[in-house]
Amino acid sequence: MGLYRTKAIVLRSRKFAETDSLLTLLTRKKGKITVIAKGVRKSNSSLRGGVQLFTYNDMLLYEGRNLDIVTQSQCLEAFTSIQENMEAMAAASYWCELLDKFVPDGERDLSLFALALAGFHLLALDYDELTMRALEVKLLLQRGYMPELERCVSCGRILQHGEPIGFSAVKGGVLCGSCRQGDVVPMTSESVRAWQQLQRIELTKLGRLKVSGGGLSALDKALEKYLAVQLECPLKARPILREIVQTP
Ligand SMILES: [Zn+2]
Repeated sequence: MGLYRTKAIVLRSRKFAETDSLLTLLTRKKGKITVIAKGVRKSNSSLRGGVQLFTYNDMLLYEGRNLDIVTQSQCLEAFTSIQENMEAMAAASYWCELLDKFVPDGERDLSLFALALAGFHLLALDYDELTMRALEVKLLLQRGYMPELERCVSCGRILQHGEPIGFSAVKGGVLCGSCRQGDVVPMTSESVRAWQQLQRIELTKLGRLKVSGGGLSALDKALEKYLAVQLECPLKARPILREIVQTP
């Protein structure tokens, strides 16, 4: 292929050699890839503006033997409001970590790319907890992870409104009042319904959804466990984000 052009979001950036950077990109053309930006850490590099973290760019890359090489990059959206707000910054870091961990290398997926970009748009507007939960739920759904939220995963009974509910990340769904025991996260009907609504709602209409503080808190804990079980590892940026949000 030689030279190719693609839209790309910068998910990660690491120093490499003296003046280079290794970038993890989510691209429209090749999915998630690791590329090299040569000389980008020199102060006079023309690439600098187009390879920053959390930016959306139009890139020209050259296919190298091992890693593709960024030859030109024009920043399309810098999401500067994310850089100006600590919460939004921590949320964007977490969104990058989620995308990095859930998306396998080299899998082209336009709907995933659209979701990733929509996530940055939302976080640039305003950070709130429901937005982050929505992005987690949408990403899980997009990757095919749909927990059972209607029937008890142990006895199969349809849950009744208002009954005590448990969520088992390992069993992949909710447990009724009689079956909930062992390693379960306590949930309420409201928090289970919120998870279902987040699966269905368009991200642009998120403002219409009302979830109480208690409902959000239960959803937060259930999602944290579920994500960790699916990934088989805890997420590093998630507790950092929580700490920043909770610090007055
Ligand atoms: Zn049951």
